[in-house]
Amino acid sequence: MAALSHRTFIEKSNMVQEKFAGRKVIACMIMKRAESDEGVVVALGAGNRCITGQRLSMEGKVVNDSHAEIVCRRAFISYLYKELENHIAGKQSIFQNGGSNGKFSVKEGVSFHLYISTAPCGDGALFTPRQDEKISDFPKKHSPVFSSKVHGITRSKIENGEGTIPIEKEEAVQTFDGILRGQRLRTMSCSDKICRWNVVGVQGALLSHFMDPVYLGSLTLGYLYDHGHLCRAICCRLDKNSTGDFEGKLAEPFRLNHPWIGRVTQYEAGRETEKTNNISINWSFYDTTPEVTDGRTGAQMSRTGGIPTPSRLCKYEMLNRFRSLIGKTNQHKHLSEDQSYRELKDSALEFQNTKQLMMETLRTMNYGPWVKKPREQDMF
Ligand SMILES: [Zn+2]
Ligand SMILES: [Zn+2]
Repeated sequence: MAALSHRTFIEKSNMVQEKFAGRKVIACMIMKRAESDEGVVVALGAGNRCITGQRLSMEGKVVNDSHAEIVCRRAFISYLYKELENHIAGKQSIFQNGGSNGKFSVKEGVSFHLYISTAPCGDGALFTPRQDEKISDFPKKHSPVFSSKVHGITRSKIENGEGTIPIEKEEAVQTFDGILRGQRLRTMSCSDKICRWNVVGVQGALLSHFMDPVYLGSLTLGYLYDHGHLCRAICCRLDKNSTGDFEGKLAEPFRLNHPWIGRVTQYEAGRETEKTNNISINWSFYDTTPEVTDGRTGAQMSRTGGIPTPSRLCKYEMLNRFRSLIGKTNQHKHLSEDQSYRELKDSALEFQNTKQLMMETLRTMNYGPWVKKPREQDMF
């Protein structure tokens, strides 16, 4: 997975002029058609920055979070749109009919595998010993470590830097005017976001109108792997006492997914001390070229009409993809053209209920709140 990911990254990044500095973070989603299949990279993301509060867009034209695995997931969603379009047009695709409630589901045997060149920021990276030990044992069954009160708590990325911090209760609600007045913008850590994907799936709210959730089959890291901390961070903290209580509350087809986790046995970590730059790259299987963005502006390097050109992965573009998909099917007449991005997301009821349940569980288990962006940013 790692070799395939790095090979693809080198191939794609050679197509662009901009160069990364320091130890870049890359992430790839690999699709396998069968267990024995070597797999193919279907989405790629690189970067480790978030936007500053002043960049927050009310028109959905900015990508808030450009950490590699987050960009990779957005590129993966772009891939899923194209696959759904193909399926609806009667072409070869990874989808089949016959999912829950008349939705599409991914074909039997097809699986998705995420590679990240380092541990996801937040709970999954913070407690991992920095010295790089040789690891040869990868237990299939997750055995999470809970040896400190701070293990498992939700954390947010800080605006100016690469670290994460716990979320104070009073920070859980962010307001647009507060942020415009200079309040720091908070974004959930990658560990927390991956944990969410292991409950609601990686497809997101909008695509849940069309398809059953898809879960990660595996997560492979290049560096900073620690079994006990990683599995706690990305799934097992929701079942701390192994009672199955949380999963018992989830309605089918949602579940608590425990992906296979591991790391490369040989990795040249390099002792790069050079500071990383703001560049982010995304590419998905049906894109002819990779797109380069600035993680701090959440948009392309070029400008259109005086503002940075929006990325093809921004919310606004995804909404367009979604509307065009509605137009191609005759199933979703209850969703209309004039509903806002927010309304369309909210109307994915099972998805939203599941997401709500997960956040409540994190709160009641004293892991802390989930900080949301102001609602205004989704009302376009
Ligand atoms: Zn991150
Ligand atoms: Zn687990």
